[in-house]
Amino acid sequence: MSERFKAPRGTFDVLSEQVPVRRRITSSSQRLLEAAGYRRIETPIFEDTDLFARGVGESTDIVQKQMFTFEDQGGRSLTLRPEATASICRAYLEHGMQKQAQPVKLWTDGPFFRHERPQAGRYRQFSQVDAEAIGSDSPLVDAEMIVLASDILAGLGVENVRLRLGSLGTPAARSAYLDELREYLHSREGELSDEVRGRIDANPLRAFDADHDGTRKVMAEAPTLLDRLDPADAEHFERVRENLDRNDVVYELDPTLVRGLDYYTRTVFEFECERLGAQSGVGGGGRYDGLIEQLGGPVTPACGWALGVDRIALALDAGESGESEETRNGVFVVAEGDGRAAALALVIELRRAGLTADLDLADRAIKGQMKQADRVGARYALILSDDGKATLRDMRSGEEREVDPSLVAEEIAR
Ligand code: AMP
Repeated sequence: MSERFKAPRGTFDVLSEQVPVRRRITSSSQRLLEAAGYRRIETPIFEDTDLFARGVGESTDIVQKQMFTFEDQGGRSLTLRPEATASICRAYLEHGMQKQAQPVKLWTDGPFFRHERPQAGRYRQFSQVDAEAIGSDSPLVDAEMIVLASDILAGLGVENVRLRLGSLGTPAARSAYLDELREYLHSREGELSDEVRGRIDANPLRAFDADHDGTRKVMAEAPTLLDRLDPADAEHFERVRENLDRNDVVYELDPTLVRGLDYYTRTVFEFECERLGAQSGVGGGGRYDGLIEQLGGPVTPACGWALGVDRIALALDAGESGESEETRNGVFVVAEGDGRAAALALVIELRRAGLTADLDLADRAIKGQMKQADRVGARYALILSDDGKATLRDMRSGEEREVDPSLVAEEIAR
């Protein structure tokens, strides 16, 4: 016997019972985003590798370790998209969207690919809803976007969500700050844990996350990036915060928030759902005022975020039934023997009239068909008998009434 195939490592099948919750996530995101003026865009699943190398940043984990890159038959290097922002910025430039009224607000959703170590909530193919507002440096844009993401999560019913907010300032302010922090950490090396001491030069910000008592004492007195912002960046951040406060969005200031992508400037944020354990990030984003220029376009400020559909589904899963809305309102037509062809014809007629309708296709006896109607969660069963009569049974109340089979659609609408 030949070996059975399995889905590749780090990927999974979305089974039909998991579809309703995922669909609810994308459709309510769509509703809120489109009501806020975001228009849908769809970009290719793969792009030139250079777009991500330049857009996401050569030094990031994503570009260095996590890209699914392949050569096509013409010898071009292509990469499965690890995120949406670079592609959307490319499309913005390619289609001359800078000539439209700014900011151009776009959203998308779909699969993304990163070669990560798989674990619960971390996959090699995952789904995101993504929103980008390109062409405005107003802090109102940052605030509007954060409120939108927060309202989407709240509207879905994701509980225990924390919002962490920070500002990275300009790349110049950031790198001056990192030098200052390294110097500070070296000046107090003796008090730090071995691990933190070993990483001062590679990643000094890690020191803020340490549990070690001595390290924590040192970090409590350490300079933070928020104290070192340029006046214009500090002012921008202040406006973002004011507008979050004004619209009742609760956040925690996190001066150590760094995101895994190089392109961020100024505002950065992350939504976490504590219930999810190690992979708790359900969404995040920030401002990226330098990216479009880096991709060969004019200086164009922009801001964006991505929500992780798989993790939000995990956070919601426990409370949700896997039944689809459609089946819950549907009719299951029950018949035996020669009546089966009439049942199929009726089902087809009902479907053409816009109803959800189904029938037994496994030669079950009447009793088995009623069970099946219940199993699929149908709202009604319509039992056809040999004498041409039909009985409509309300599966919820158990109430039955005789109906004219040709008027079933009207009966149900009643
Ligand atoms: P990022 O694009 O890294 O800012 O990620 C935004 C959101 O996408 C995260 O908060 C996660 O919810 C989700 N996400 C990112 N990477 C993965 C992954 N490998 N597996 C599942 N979800 C992910």
